[in-house]
Amino acid sequence: MAKITESDILERTDEGRFKRGREYQRKGAVKDRVSREGNLEAGVEGSYRQPYRVSVSFSDDGIKSTSCSCLDDYYGDCKHVVAVLLDLLDNDDAFKEVEPVGKTLEGRSKEELTLLIQEMLEREPSLKRLLDEPLPGFSRSKGSTETVDRTLYRQDVRNMIEGYNERGDEWHVSSSLQSLVKKGR
Ligand SMILES: [Zn+2]
Repeated sequence: MAKITESDILERTDEGRFKRGREYQRKGAVKDRVSREGNLEAGVEGSYRQPYRVSVSFSDDGIKSTSCSCLDDYYGDCKHVVAVLLDLLDNDDAFKEVEPVGKTLEGRSKEELTLLIQEMLEREPSLKRLLDEPLPGFSRSKGSTETVDRTLYRQDVRNMIEGYNERGDEWHVSSSLQSLVKKGR
């Protein structure tokens, strides 16, 4: 994991959110800290009943991208992301190394996986759309001539571009486009 400094964190946000993030971190609001495949995940207790879910990914020279389940999508990191990053500076041993997602899933039975996916779709209903999309390398209905619904893909691309215009997050757009291209093969 790349070494980051306090000024790296401040550069990614504004002073107000940096201060709030610091307060959260100091009062111990950062929980469930794990490091998975070099990326960080944590929960941050805030004003809402459920903790906010934060994830941070790293590249060789620093922070690659961050995300949070809160609605603060104004440009830059939210206070929860700031709290997690400050917590990392403070005590990186608190982030427990866990096995990669692929390995965890491989160890589960089909019944467990089905239940898990149902649970995920219940929490994030917008993902139900994925059920209608072919997976890379698999054809969904054997023998039938499947036609691709182009409007779905057009909508995908439109969402990516709109997301970029709002946030200017190039990494996110390029990774979304890559996964779309993979699907098309
Ligand atoms: Zn947040």
